[in-house]
Amino acid sequence: MEFNLVSKGVYTAKGRTGVLGLRLKGEEARLSYDPRTGQASGKFSLVLHYELLDKVKGFRRGRTKGEADEFVPYTETMVGKLSVRFPEGMRPASKGRVVVEPAILEAELSSSVLGAVRRIRVVIRFRLDWARFLAPAEFLRIQPVFIGRNSSDPNATGKAFPELMKRAVELWGRCGSGRCLGFVINRPIYLNAPAYKVLETEAEAASLRAEVDVADAVEVFVVERMDFACAWGGGACFSSGTAAAKVVTCDQQLNIPAPCPCPGYCPATCPPCPPCQTGDVNYYHLAHELGHALNLAHPGAPHGGLVEGTPGSNMEPSGFCCDNPDVQSARNCRSASNPLLYWGRAICRGAPDIDD
Ligand SMILES: [Zn+2]
Repeated sequence: MEFNLVSKGVYTAKGRTGVLGLRLKGEEARLSYDPRTGQASGKFSLVLHYELLDKVKGFRRGRTKGEADEFVPYTETMVGKLSVRFPEGMRPASKGRVVVEPAILEAELSSSVLGAVRRIRVVIRFRLDWARFLAPAEFLRIQPVFIGRNSSDPNATGKAFPELMKRAVELWGRCGSGRCLGFVINRPIYLNAPAYKVLETEAEAASLRAEVDVADAVEVFVVERMDFACAWGGGACFSSGTAAAKVVTCDQQLNIPAPCPCPGYCPATCPPCPPCQTGDVNYYHLAHELGHALNLAHPGAPHGGLVEGTPGSNMEPSGFCCDNPDVQSARNCRSASNPLLYWGRAICRGAPDIDD
């Protein structure tokens, strides 16, 4: 049901790939398995993405009202052949580990956009840990990036991050045991580059994004403010749904200046939202951007391989002066995907607000 692979990237004839990710295409793949010999194998489609694709081809922009915060990448498709040999006559157990012979994945490019990577061969060495296998939770690692000298710099950005992240953890925690999703948060990286505190153009935001690449995490860049905040809803996600996903946002999410700079946007499915609010407004904004990082699109706007979010849920676009709904849905939880997701253990409480 899941297959995620991430790498720092490789050199190719077309340039360095940058962060590279592979994930299973579709909801599940079938392997044939012979319990007597332990041999399992199968063929399935994989979605391939690497940062060089974004650099050469650019992004697809969402065509929704309210905020243009989805920067959807072009992706390619590979056909993967996996073969793995488990011990003979293996039976599920409540605990214990099983050492498995290295699995081999051989993937060939089947639908190309740039074609810099045509073949991937991976030798996967792993142990099967029954305790983890039977109580799975999935984690997405987050790398905060703030502008300032260090954590004791009183003028450093990132003041809104703890609250925004707390709400994101809480909203995605509502997936409960149906699809237990959590976040692991790295220590912030500080960029001592005051010019980035106020982003004047989208090009400046692109330079900022290029400053930090953490291969196994979604970077969340927090500036003080951006002059084009109304266009993005104050923040946006780039390379949505891929290992290269990055969010750029600002501290003004919880400190929108008066007079109100832009209208709020309320889709018909949302509870009425004041047309324009100032002050501490966008508590669930980062939860929404991380929804894009988890391959979800705005309701009614599926494109580029992203999955449409549930109407009325947190995946509704809202604009800068109105918060994204504090509502989680079972379908959003179920549809979430990113090659960076990895297995772990957690206690999963809570339940989605919308059953589907
Ligand atoms: Zn959005």
